[in-house]
Amino acid sequence: MTGKPVLDVRNLSVGYMTPRGFATAVDGVSLTIHEGETVGLVGESGCGKSTLAMAIMRLLGPGAYVTGGRIRIADRDIYRMGREELRQFRWTHVSMVFQSAMNVLNPVRTIGEQMVDTFRAHDPRMSKREAMERSAELLRIVRIDPARLGSFPHELSGGMRQRVVIAIAIAFKPKLVIMDEPTTALDVVVQRSILEQVMELQEQFGFSILFISHDITLVNRISNRVGVMYAGRLVEMSDSQLATEEPPLYHPYAMGLHRAIPTLDAGDDEISGIPGSPPVPLSMPPGCAFHPRCPYVRDACASIKPDLTRHGDYQIACHLTTDELRSFAHAD
Ligand code: SF4
Repeated sequence: MTGKPVLDVRNLSVGYMTPRGFATAVDGVSLTIHEGETVGLVGESGCGKSTLAMAIMRLLGPGAYVTGGRIRIADRDIYRMGREELRQFRWTHVSMVFQSAMNVLNPVRTIGEQMVDTFRAHDPRMSKREAMERSAELLRIVRIDPARLGSFPHELSGGMRQRVVIAIAIAFKPKLVIMDEPTTALDVVVQRSILEQVMELQEQFGFSILFISHDITLVNRISNRVGVMYAGRLVEMSDSQLATEEPPLYHPYAMGLHRAIPTLDAGDDEISGIPGSPPVPLSMPPGCAFHPRCPYVRDACASIKPDLTRHGDYQIACHLTTDELRSFAHAD
């Protein structure tokens, strides 16, 4: 992908202070997203993907600390901004769509009141009438009748609420929108229509997307590149639709994610979960953190942490050779 980088995360580490010690949740992650690009991030719960998103927004909660690295958005280091500068920067340069619209929208205020508040918080000179007109225009863009400005969140369906949250996220034409499991709580039909709309909005407004999900099929469908996280580290980064003759390569953990996807024509013995559970941050296995679950584990894996290294068009953190990765990925 060409174009200027909109997001540049370099060697970022984030951890939490807990009563039992310091737990590293994000461990040396580097990630770049260019103008107009969609990068997906996939992994099981607790792999660090949401912590990474919150760190990018500089919205980490109490007890969470950035312990290394840096984050630049539109060429600005967000951890060097003052409070007011950061408040203006968020939503005009980077915004976020959270998983549950009900946790974002205030249940006792109408959609219109909340949208007007958002506009006026960023531009206090904007009149209420003008803010209402902009809100109505935004609702039209996400295909909701502007008459709904007078509705309370509980009077809208789950899909409509998530569309409202998306409308607010793009209100100030940000360069980057972070979407953290934006359709997880919705049924598949609504999920599909929201994703189609997100892609149309991206085409129209040109923003870049960091799309976070545990659903590798969904992420593959909408992303230009896909990163796979495990135990706080990026273990794979690849283009999702490579124009190559070669079949794709996968990190052994990503192989497990792909094999766990049910398909209409797969027999019972063709779908398999990944054995074991993800490690807890306070007791991370040494070496490759995936080694207790990996079917291809070898001696070095238990003691030497593999770096993300290039295998053709892919970057994979694994001690296996390119030929081994290829043969295991297409063994059955
Ligand atoms: Fe498996 Fe070893 Fe590769 Fe880790 S480094 S994914 S344990 S083969």
